[in-house]
Amino acid sequence: MNFQWYPGHMTKAKRQMQEDIKLIDLVIELVDARIPLSSRNPDIDELGKNKYRLILMNKADLADKERTREWSAFFKEKGFFVVSLDARSKSGMKNITDIVMEACKEKIERDRKRGIKNRPVRAMVVGIPNVGKSTFINSYAGKACAKTGNKPGVTKGKQWIRLNKSVELLDTPGILWPKFEDPEVGFCLAVTGAIKEDVYDRETAVELLLERLMHIYPEDLRVKYAIDFSEAEPVREVMSKIAVARGCLKAGGVLDIDKVIQLVLRDFRTGRLGRFTLD
Ligand code: GDP
Repeated sequence: MNFQWYPGHMTKAKRQMQEDIKLIDLVIELVDARIPLSSRNPDIDELGKNKYRLILMNKADLADKERTREWSAFFKEKGFFVVSLDARSKSGMKNITDIVMEACKEKIERDRKRGIKNRPVRAMVVGIPNVGKSTFINSYAGKACAKTGNKPGVTKGKQWIRLNKSVELLDTPGILWPKFEDPEVGFCLAVTGAIKEDVYDRETAVELLLERLMHIYPEDLRVKYAIDFSEAEPVREVMSKIAVARGCLKAGGVLDIDKVIQLVLRDFRTGRLGRFTLD
């Protein structure tokens, strides 16, 4: 897939992140559990080196559970702390602080040895657009938290959210620029809704998505749309079947391709079609 998109403004974002990262102990990186690799920006490993690292596999409610377990194990193997999550649910937040403390236990221990008690861990939430950063901050911080305001000299211009006596969060998330020189990555970002629809061809995206689903999750497609197909069938025929099953037809019974595209993308993104992992 081709993308009419150039991340010009991302140079500024990167510089900002380089500055912000100096202020924190822990990077909380959100990835999309449906595309745990495609939704990562590899630069974060360079930017966040020497920091403690927690990966939140967000939108886990939309992802294939078994694959989420596998990806989680993969990241843990690489040395990250990992939690899978639905950022919209407050109940998912319960153990986050425990894991933050666990991830930063070296620092806490070092502070303790120096006689520093109760110095909060400072964390920053990062991730590509739409991955759920704001949703997470709202759910995790809740209403009860106090903004600690500017601390001149130390954190000029920065707002921190005091979550409890142990954790402070930088209140604006760091926006990572998606990487999609790789067409596969671009495809994954497009169909999950991470990038704006005006920079790629939706029809191509939906064709590729359906072809993918026909192979890796055929039963979900068959059941949800009440259609039958063989895996070797041309995708346009499957689209016609979906159109007929769902009444995506124009006057005279002509296939309304725009309607099918819209329907499939919506059903995929909302999880109505099933729980899928593409990476
Ligand atoms: P940000 O750009 O990273 O700050 O992303 P937002 O927090 O604005 O979230 C983008 C969209 O994803 C919103 O419509 C959220 O409701 C939705 N969202 C966030 N987290 C989750 C999640 O865990 N599961 C699902 N299904 N949707 C989520």
